[in-house]
Amino acid sequence: MNFQVDKDGYYGKFGGAYIPEILYGNVERLRSEYLSVMETPDFQREFTGLLRDYAGRPTALYHAKRLSEKYGAKIYLKREDLNHTGAHKITNSIGQVLLARRMGKTRIIAETGAGQHGVATATVCALFGMECHVYMGKLDVERQYLNVQKMKMLGAEVIPVTSGNMTLKDATNEAIRDWCCNPANTFYVIGSTIGPHPYPDMVARFQSVISKEIKRQLSEKEGRDYPDYLLACVGGGSNAAGAFYVYLDNNDVHFLVAEAAGKGLDSGMSAATIHLGREGIIHGCRTLIMQTEDGQIEEPYSVSAGLDYPGIGPIHAYMAKEKRSTVYAITDDEALDAAFELTGLEGIIPALESSHALAILKRKTFNPDDLVVVNLSGRGDKDMSTYVEYSRI
Ligand SMILES: *Cc1c(COP(=O)(O)O)cnc(C)c1O
Repeated sequence: MNFQVDKDGYYGKFGGAYIPEILYGNVERLRSEYLSVMETPDFQREFTGLLRDYAGRPTALYHAKRLSEKYGAKIYLKREDLNHTGAHKITNSIGQVLLARRMGKTRIIAETGAGQHGVATATVCALFGMECHVYMGKLDVERQYLNVQKMKMLGAEVIPVTSGNMTLKDATNEAIRDWCCNPANTFYVIGSTIGPHPYPDMVARFQSVISKEIKRQLSEKEGRDYPDYLLACVGGGSNAAGAFYVYLDNNDVHFLVAEAAGKGLDSGMSAATIHLGREGIIHGCRTLIMQTEDGQIEEPYSVSAGLDYPGIGPIHAYMAKEKRSTVYAITDDEALDAAFELTGLEGIIPALESSHALAILKRKTFNPDDLVVVNLSGRGDKDMSTYVEYSRI
């Protein structure tokens, strides 16, 4: 079984590039150039230099002793929360903006839901003095005040989108519309392992630095370069794809994936796309989608803004279907409990998204000598108001 993208941009029957005619030239140029550009020593030097000196990589691999004791296995946390801007997303934004510059693009557009990808991209655009336009549903603009202010301070234009439900999928539609109008000078920075080929593969490759570091760090700490279990949450799937990447072909490494069940799988308020979705096309790729009987995309729900996406990266749809990964639907309450537990045991306040991955620890029984790595995708500063509300601190 091979979990790399095939030459046509598919993972099994998932993936591909379903795009309007006008974008064909653009996407085709990206497809034909991304690997050769990314693999040049000069690009690698600039990318890894920025990851080290600007984003703060490598991120620590931390042996969480009290958490390990509690769950009866040796548990490490991959500390993506220590990255600049608070999550793994900065790695992908740096990679894509560097690529855009090398392709001669002068204008960056992005879409954002909770604002985390928008902030990461606006950050890198500020760093390079590049024009940046971020599409965001009007409802999200109102809900995410702090991130909107950050993007503006960083010099980006935030464009509130008033079509549809005024959330992420509507923002994505507007970003694609912008791209169609400005194909020559504009690079669309997509924030996860979604979108038309080659985006899912490109984003997975940028984020693969996570698993390369885990491999080296485990080897130093344990004398063995792979874990028995790797746990990660999936919104679109980029932190998970990055954490799994070098282990895709190693069947001794079990991938445990957390998607957001919201208020429960049967509640009608969920974002558990792999459990509930059906095949369709969203944002330029074929994958599983939360949709109604007649094919309308359903508005997803999760307490965690980074996980309430109605689709899923095609690589994860494929891995789940082939049983390469085991997918858990984690509810809001389970994730919130896990966040408070980690904070109390280890003094680390995790992002709500990452807390979904942590919540798997309660569902799965481990052996005492199992090596477990949880990808802690981000920090919880942005989620403090939810934590306060939940706990009535
Ligand atoms: C955006 C985000 C996610 C979800 O995105 P993926 O592409 O699935 O990784 C997870 N955790 C954090 C902290 C995020 O900001």
